Amino acid sequence: MMSDPSRCSGIPHCSLCGEPAVFRRRQTGTHLCGTHLASDIEAQVAETIASHRQVVPGDRIAVALSGGKDSTALLILLHRLFYSRDDVHLVAVTVDEGISGYREATIRSAGDLARKLGVEQITVSFPELFGRTLDTILTGRGAQACSICGILRKKALVIAAERAGATKLATGHNLDDEAQSVLMNVLRGDLVRLVRDSGADSGGKFIPRIKPLMYISEKEIAAFLMVQGIWEDLPECPYAVHALRREVRSMLAATEYRHPGTMRRLMENKKKVESAFHTRAAGPAIGSCRECGDPCSGELCQYCRLRHALGL
Ligand code: SF4
Ligand code: ZN
Repeated sequence: MMSDPSRCSGIPHCSLCGEPAVFRRRQTGTHLCGTHLASDIEAQVAETIASHRQVVPGDRIAVALSGGKDSTALLILLHRLFYSRDDVHLVAVTVDEGISGYREATIRSAGDLARKLGVEQITVSFPELFGRTLDTILTGRGAQACSICGILRKKALVIAAERAGATKLATGHNLDDEAQSVLMNVLRGDLVRLVRDSGADSGGKFIPRIKPLMYISEKEIAAFLMVQGIWEDLPECPYAVHALRREVRSMLAATEYRHPGTMRRLMENKKKVESAFHTRAAGPAIGSCRECGDPCSGELCQYCRLRHALGL
């Protein structure tokens, strides 16, 4: 009978090779060493990309690189998967929102990584695109920080991806982010956003968004970066304290700890709701914003409505 290498001694060892483990999958009880964790994550990302047809030959992928943990892992993994291919190109796109005391360090980290990997980088800033830094825009509006920032940053990323001539826009959303979004949309009672959030179906109207890390947990990403020796303790956004996401995040993390697999089950349920929705109703038709031409379901897109409200 074969012995389980992870049980050879008191300290955990990799279930695959018996080397000291750096990560434990709570759901399966599997232990992984650094090498097997990295190859496992790479394989999972390759599988997500293949099964969702996220990348096709000829793609020029704009990789949203904020310099934070998720986007750093995303660029490293996509670079590993595609650097030897001539038919897929990567361009890092970075948005400097203008958040004093926070973005300087992450912007520097993003630039260092792009240079190290030899990936072209395009940076856009809120002052260049919207005339003001996020800090200035948010004066007196701190409580709405993330909704305002989210809409403007999405627009800025699309502009950067268009400048890069991209056919896809890859973002570093991980399993935790995706599960949090599902729960937040449920809490807000926003069924339309729940089923529209995938961003995959562009209908040719905008650059499709892809999320290659959507099944990789925040913990796996953190362990992956530590194993690569590129872990950097970067500051947190000062506006994050206002975010509903922050509360949902700790609630979900605690539930996941007590009931491993909760986040994956949330994602599976989202898929079920999506397919039920798409077979029963088409939802509001996607038209074009009367001012900027971006796809939207009403007369004005979210960005143009916000632009008017903020006087940008
Ligand atoms: Fe923007 Fe909120 Fe994220 Fe800060 S925490 S970068 S304000 S979305
Ligand atoms: Zn618009």
